Amino acid sequence: MRDDTRRWIQADQAHCWHPFTRQGEWCDPDHEPLVLTRGEGAWLSDSEGRRYLDGNSSIWTNIHGHAHPVITAAIREQLEKTAHVSFLGFTHPAAVELAEKLCAFFPPHTLERVFFSDDGSTAVECALKMAVQYRTQTGEPERRGFVAFADGYHGDTLGAASLGGVGRFFERFKGHGYTATHVRGLDELHALDSGNLAAVIIEPLIQGVNEMRPWPPGMLAGLRSWCDETGVQLILDEVMTGFGRTGKMFACQHENVTPDFLCLAKGLTGGTLPMAATLTTAAIYNAFLGAAENAFYYGHSYTANPLGCAAALASLDLFEREKTFESLPVKIEHLRAGLSALKAAQPLIHEIRQCGFIAGIELRRPDGVKFSPEKRIGEAVCLAARAHGLLTRPILDTIVLMPPLCTTAAELDHALAALGAAISSNPGIDTRPPFA
Ligand SMILES: *Cc1c(COP(=O)(O)O)cnc(C)c1O
Repeated sequence: MRDDTRRWIQADQAHCWHPFTRQGEWCDPDHEPLVLTRGEGAWLSDSEGRRYLDGNSSIWTNIHGHAHPVITAAIREQLEKTAHVSFLGFTHPAAVELAEKLCAFFPPHTLERVFFSDDGSTAVECALKMAVQYRTQTGEPERRGFVAFADGYHGDTLGAASLGGVGRFFERFKGHGYTATHVRGLDELHALDSGNLAAVIIEPLIQGVNEMRPWPPGMLAGLRSWCDETGVQLILDEVMTGFGRTGKMFACQHENVTPDFLCLAKGLTGGTLPMAATLTTAAIYNAFLGAAENAFYYGHSYTANPLGCAAALASLDLFEREKTFESLPVKIEHLRAGLSALKAAQPLIHEIRQCGFIAGIELRRPDGVKFSPEKRIGEAVCLAARAHGLLTRPILDTIVLMPPLCTTAAELDHALAALGAAISSNPGIDTRPPFA
């Protein structure tokens, strides 16, 4: 190991606290965290000079590849003007243009207002607060409740977390945030008293953190109809599905659904800078006009950060310049064929769940029974895949494969071969790897 790698690891283990990580294992002297130092296209390299395909787009954020010269140049150009100015009481060109571009993806007079914030959680937080305040200002203060879907994920701030349905993350915080009713599907909605409900939130087309689980086709359109009948507002959390992952720019476009609130983050800047947007309609926005107390008293210091806006504009531009949506269908089919060949060759693969360029590969025992959770097979397989040049993370025993949209067919083959080799090595069946 190089001296600088050793130094970074020691200082990390002494001072850093990582998200969703068992720090005891992370800091174990036998655990050697990868120190990632560079990225180029779909590839990352570590401080020891090893290269890996970025198999989960750096936790679902990267779109056009790392260090893309067009996005880098746009950030640099903005940086030379100013890194940050306040959006509170002022405006700036990059935010104006970005807001206009985002609205232009939707039919006229639908989503036409953009509220910027910092990450997926704040994009959701903002939609929730707008939904509650809207009701108090339109004479329906009793409509304060939210509906969310079981096993869904909407972020980690307290409000967003209270709508989350993943017990192992959120159970201990129950009662500290919003009250939400969790349902499993459309049929359960009809039993609810919609007169008390402000809004329903969903990850459209596919639930990410719920081991990459797609909804049945037509589900989203059905939910929109229920919302129209009951007056419950529809919040779409496209933090994961937005910006091409599902094969269209936004997942809701597959079922021609326009929500009342659309939450965007992860891929907004192409995976370069933290930035989020909550889009909404004129009907909602108009309820915040008039009296001083009607204003939306919410915001963050770095709201509409100019560097983030410049990166987002460049990323949107790249979809056109690189004709991303022309090459994507072929790559999606290449991924589908590759995954089905992998499943045929690997008895431990129980199910492949794919939605566009997003895939979950669920591992189970050959008899179809789940591995016991303590074995942490998913983690062991991902750890083994590193040795074959692939980085990704599992969700329980489901391996996530969703590389940047720029990934080529040959690079997809590399990722699939690495996964195959990792699974074939039967890692972790009897070991307990330190993995974070
Ligand atoms: C990641 C994610 C979030 C939270 O976004 P952060 O940027 O991590 O706060 C919310 N919703 C969904 C669907 C996500 O995948």
